[in-house]
Amino acid sequence: MEACTFLSPTRLVIGRDAEAQTPHWIRQEGCSRVLVHHDSGYVKQSGLVDRIIALLREDGLTVVELGGVVPNPRLALVREGICVCRENQIDFLLAVGGGSVIDSCKAIGLGVAYDGDVWDFFAEKDGVPMAVPTRSLPIGVVLTIAATGSEASNSCVVTNGDLKRFCDNDVNRPRFAIENPLLTCSLPPFQTACGIVDIMSHSMERYFTCEEGGNYLTDALCEAVFRTCLTCAPILRENPQNYQARANVMVASSLSHNGLTGIGRTGDWASHFIEHELSGEFDVTHGAGLAVIIPAWMRYVWPERPNLFLAFATRVMGVEADMDHPELTIQEGIRRLEDFFRSMGLPTRLRDMPGVGRVDERIMEKMARRVRTVHADGSIGWVKRLYTKDIVVIFQLAQ
Ligand SMILES: [Zn+2]
Repeated sequence: MEACTFLSPTRLVIGRDAEAQTPHWIRQEGCSRVLVHHDSGYVKQSGLVDRIIALLREDGLTVVELGGVVPNPRLALVREGICVCRENQIDFLLAVGGGSVIDSCKAIGLGVAYDGDVWDFFAEKDGVPMAVPTRSLPIGVVLTIAATGSEASNSCVVTNGDLKRFCDNDVNRPRFAIENPLLTCSLPPFQTACGIVDIMSHSMERYFTCEEGGNYLTDALCEAVFRTCLTCAPILRENPQNYQARANVMVASSLSHNGLTGIGRTGDWASHFIEHELSGEFDVTHGAGLAVIIPAWMRYVWPERPNLFLAFATRVMGVEADMDHPELTIQEGIRRLEDFFRSMGLPTRLRDMPGVGRVDERIMEKMARRVRTVHADGSIGWVKRLYTKDIVVIFQLAQ
């Protein structure tokens, strides 16, 4: 176990009708002027947003509403949100929705508390961000999609043109997340599936570490997240209304990305960096992009850490270990993971993705060159250092 700090200050308010407690938890923060941020989609049409706003107003809170968030949230709306907050002296941000809405809220919070341009926190110069935030407005979440874990994480991803950039900082962590599993019961199968892949991926990025052994606790915590997803996905395919499965997936979303499964280990995160370029280029759903990138990444890097990939194949994917041919066991584990993604209706190859198809080599190189670097030598990843040429190979394997 490597030296580390662990912080997870987000209060999870879990259960049926949990959203009724929203005004209470905003009051607890000493706030009274609330921006309610959403995507103008199902959350609005279903009446949820109006129901929440009514609850806040009944409690005497002042509410301003800002809809219009799109998947891969855009900088333009973030800037608009910052102006709206300043004009209305907003002191609390409430995201009603999933990852995109939460990230848009986080970026607005960073911008309101900063005199410069909010993009400074996302843009980089020579591999370092142009500015690092020190404060934000307090944020709360009424979660309607279990996926990104943004409701309890320090991360925030925003898209500016075809650039998708992130700002990971503890000031981004929401004060509370309202988790009523019933609010996720009407999610279509595609979004449920994308969410489950994303939840698994956040613990996979931590599970596949560069350290050799010694992480007994977090190995087991990561594997618990994987098993929960493997168990709940077929239940939800059969019956999308299953409360227990929805509840388990919802809480897994938060615990998979609040840092818990990464205690003492160095996460890899290459799959996320590569996927960000894929969804920046083709505007594919993050979880759908990961279902394509993760198996290709695994096939390319497993020889660097065979023991970890062997553990994943046997302990998670249920492959019987062939100790004479561990490589076959590992490959079977990756194949079963792909089968699992496909069983949820997701393509696991670029050519099968709607809106993507066969990707030209030049586009692959363009995306690979654009990946935000991690190490001073221009590479990403910890399991295996990946340079532009390696990333192109991973795109080819994903083709
Ligand atoms: Zn993710």
